[in-house]
Amino acid sequence: MTKSLVLLGLAAPLLAASGYKAGVARLIITPEKPIYLSGYASRNHPSEGAVHDLWAKALAIEDSKGSRVVIVTTDIIGLPRSISDVVAARIEKQYGLERARLLLNSSHTHTGPLIAGNLESMFNLAAEEKATVAEYGQRLTDSIVSVVGASLADLRPAQIATGHGVAGFGMNRREPTPKGVKIGVNPSGPTDHDVPVIRITAADGKVLAILFGYACHNTTLTGEFYKLSGDYAGFAQIEVEKLHPGTTAMYLALCGADQNPEPRSTLEIAESHGKSLAAAVESVLRGKMQPSQGPVRAAFQMTDLDFAYHTRDRYQAELADKDPYKVRRAQAMLKAYDDGRPVRRYPYPVQALALGRNFSVLALGGEVGIDYAIRVKRQYGSQGIAVAGYSNDVMGYIPSTRILKEGGYEAETSMIYYGQPGPWAENVEERIFATIAQVMGRVGRKPSGKAD
Ligand SMILES: [Zn+2]
Repeated sequence: MTKSLVLLGLAAPLLAASGYKAGVARLIITPEKPIYLSGYASRNHPSEGAVHDLWAKALAIEDSKGSRVVIVTTDIIGLPRSISDVVAARIEKQYGLERARLLLNSSHTHTGPLIAGNLESMFNLAAEEKATVAEYGQRLTDSIVSVVGASLADLRPAQIATGHGVAGFGMNRREPTPKGVKIGVNPSGPTDHDVPVIRITAADGKVLAILFGYACHNTTLTGEFYKLSGDYAGFAQIEVEKLHPGTTAMYLALCGADQNPEPRSTLEIAESHGKSLAAAVESVLRGKMQPSQGPVRAAFQMTDLDFAYHTRDRYQAELADKDPYKVRRAQAMLKAYDDGRPVRRYPYPVQALALGRNFSVLALGGEVGIDYAIRVKRQYGSQGIAVAGYSNDVMGYIPSTRILKEGGYEAETSMIYYGQPGPWAENVEERIFATIAQVMGRVGRKPSGKAD
């Protein structure tokens, strides 16, 4: 009795200093039966077992005034708005958590299940396979709602500390060739090897959660793999949890759309990249981390992104193309024209969370290129921020102005698989940065670095 009172006495001043609460929950989301894997169009049959489980994990954080946010990470390719909108509406209704306060991120594993509404046009599935995908999408929706509820029910006094590490396996993949940019390796292209880390510790000193991010495609494993896994991000979470028994490790996919792991293509390499990332996290945890203090805030804004101008004739001509993906896209676009609603723009989500005064998470939709992270950090500083992609909706690649001009997969070809009409308009980067300035301003962040 006396002893526990002493312990409480010791803990109390620390808690008074931060006033945060945190809650953590996790649920297995490994598909129960064979399902098509997403990410590579070459796949021609469903999955064959699993290397390890896939997870949906949620971290709820509340400040001393009751202001809450929940960050959800998932070992899947990406959440389309058809799922995240439903999830967010149900969470708002059941738990009273507003849309702005919920961040839904996906690891972008290419050995995860095909998700209904995301890259579905990559495959021409039989009715039975389609039903499996639809069923899984329903289960995933329910799982995310439940895991968020469980994290909120788990809220307890906690400390937040943040820091940054470095992992080197992310390589720019846009290789210039005489015929234009192809997907390869480009050692001189821009990268960002930052590993932001958020550690959540309970009053008794137990580490409840370790959230970390990296800006690199989760594609060590290539199209010939048919076993479900979280790729390097899955292995990194497993390794961090091995080093800290009882903790929940969470992976946040950052702006690595034009980055690939190097080398790649074997399970051993995926595990080794996972361990490198976990080692980077470990070095941050062992060093001096910045304790968070101050309010938790959230801002979320949709902005319409325009597609480059197109006419009906273009898709009429594409109907005769040899590429079946182009034909499928053309059919969808012609139908939109026929319905009198040609696809001209897309509502794009931009979100900012402030976890106290010294750390922010900026969360962008889509597969965002590295130029965005570099520009955000030039404006807001490279410390105390995580710039996530693959958040809240994944509707296509988000190239910078530079990449849009250079062309290639991230600028144009990928949009066919996403069923989008074509590349974004030239102002895509400026439109997104105008919105970034708004949401960052609303959570109390002003640009501090060099102006553009
Ligand atoms: Zn991708």
